[in-house]
Amino acid sequence: MTRGNPCQLPGMLPNYDPNDSEAGMKILEDLTENVEQIQQRVLEEIITRNARTDYLKGFLDGQFDKQVFKKTVPVVNYEDIKPYIERIANGDSSNIISAEPIIELLTSSGTSGGQPKMMPSTAEDLHRKTFFYNLLVPVMTKYVDGLDEGKAMYLLFVKPETKTPSGLMARPVLTSYYKSNNFKNRPFNRFNVYTSPDETILCSDSKQSMYCQLLCGLVQRQEVLRVGAVFASAFLRAIKFLEHNWKELCSNTRTGHVSDWITDPGCRKVVSLVLNKPRPELADLIEHECNSKSWEGIIKKLWPRTKYIEVIVTGSMAQYVSTLEYYSGGIPLVSTMYASSECYFGINFKPLSKPWDVSYTLIPNMAYFEFLPVKKKNEDGAQYVQCNGVCTENCMEKETEKEDVETVELVDVKLGQYYELVVTTFTGLYRYRVGDILMVTGFHNKAPQFRFVHRRNVVLSIDTDKTSEEDLLKAVTKAKVIVESLGILLIEYTSYADTSSIPGHYVLFWELTSKGNNHLPVLDPKIMEQCCSTVEESLDSVYRRCRRKDNSIGPLEIRVVQHGTFDALMDFCVSQGSSVNQYKTPRCIKSGEAINILDSRVVARFFSQKAPFWEPV
Ligand code: AMP
Repeated sequence: MTRGNPCQLPGMLPNYDPNDSEAGMKILEDLTENVEQIQQRVLEEIITRNARTDYLKGFLDGQFDKQVFKKTVPVVNYEDIKPYIERIANGDSSNIISAEPIIELLTSSGTSGGQPKMMPSTAEDLHRKTFFYNLLVPVMTKYVDGLDEGKAMYLLFVKPETKTPSGLMARPVLTSYYKSNNFKNRPFNRFNVYTSPDETILCSDSKQSMYCQLLCGLVQRQEVLRVGAVFASAFLRAIKFLEHNWKELCSNTRTGHVSDWITDPGCRKVVSLVLNKPRPELADLIEHECNSKSWEGIIKKLWPRTKYIEVIVTGSMAQYVSTLEYYSGGIPLVSTMYASSECYFGINFKPLSKPWDVSYTLIPNMAYFEFLPVKKKNEDGAQYVQCNGVCTENCMEKETEKEDVETVELVDVKLGQYYELVVTTFTGLYRYRVGDILMVTGFHNKAPQFRFVHRRNVVLSIDTDKTSEEDLLKAVTKAKVIVESLGILLIEYTSYADTSSIPGHYVLFWELTSKGNNHLPVLDPKIMEQCCSTVEESLDSVYRRCRRKDNSIGPLEIRVVQHGTFDALMDFCVSQGSSVNQYKTPRCIKSGEAINILDSRVVARFFSQKAPFWEPV
């Protein structure tokens, strides 16, 4: 490694020993000092490699120049590249977009036409991800001592996968990574020793996987120095699972025998080895803690050496911070990274900062980054609405819909400004709009740092689901047909993500009236429950998977409100600064006060009685 030349391996990846934190730190310094040069080289390398692909050939006409690239290659959305992805899924050669063979398609939590978007992935890309994960080690060890003196209880899960007609695997990015040799045959790294044996992570039955990982984590509780899951929602799901299953987990610990319903042979074998013998004293201790009336601080009590909880609590996950703080007993919450199916983007260089202050530094050899400037809605000085990572009405102007807006390079972004992220990856995405809105908060060396503000067009999110206003309208439109056929009209509706219990669930507030007489109709619970189910059936496949397969979203609820409730909501919004003339009912509510206005006028509540249909695409 020499200064100024941090990327010697193919694909701009430096070569170093991940056990060597000092070398890791030096690489990070090099990457963040030489942002401009690295970004230039990344783009050159991507163009040089891929200029002959059908996609780029059409725009570049054999020219390898950056200016030509930026002038002729359009900034695109998924819909623009979908035909190419579909051709690959159906058997066309992957070199229509990428010179490197595409070995699988990564199913994103963003959807198109109700189905997950699919992102290309190459063999080299797995190495890029490994490189990125390895960079987290020097950052954490800089701030937290002694991480090599114990284990991590990371609850990691695989999700269902399927094959495209051409035989390519289609699966979520983390499932792809955990099943890869890069993960399974990872070289020993003393900072990354997990309590969960790989067999328990790779078990496709999520209930068995969760049970076995928690059992292994409890048995090794004295060795655990950090706990976590990828997203806050998944970690809270694990706490709820523990609440429901601690007696059985204690009984297994006491007897040294794994419950018979753990039938996955890999899991049974490894968990029996970890459990090893009857441990009555440990069982008594866990029982004592779990039996306590309050579970406040339960993490600290069960895993007393825990130095931090590693979970993403930025973006839509910010809604879980207070619940996590309740369970954590004051242990810091650490969001280490910002990544997606398209590409891994950035690292949090100040991991112990408070969730609201977290920023990510984009790592310049991951992709070529560009930024579409986004304006705040009310340029006249109205405050930007803190939106917990999902878009609220009036949050942002749709400035970026304009075709002629020019992108800004990574080194040219300005402090305090908002941008939408656009990436050109090593895997066949060119000037692709990720859909995330970021704000520049500062710089690490020459690398800008970004706060994740929200995802474009997302109004509701509980887990990895991302429901837009349009998705919601479509689903409500289908459901309201049911009541309309009975002479009942839906006058107004709005929604909110209720995370007061785990798992959280979608709530719709409906104001209904009888056709003709303007009275609140008599409601048949069966019909209303059918409305709830119809909304759920009409939402996209990621929602339905979370709800049906992962159980990470609870049954959707419709709360019917009194007449005049939406007038009261309008009065409230106007009192908060909305213009009367331009007022539109917000389709999603975040403000506690507004929710109280609605909740205090609820006359009936109905829940979906069955999980919606879902199968892998
Ligand atoms: P997926 O494509 O399903 O992997 O989802 C990727 C998306 O998840 C990103 O584009 C973001 O919208 C969101 N995301 C990922 N990491 C973070 C993070 N650290 N903070 C907030 N949102 C995140």
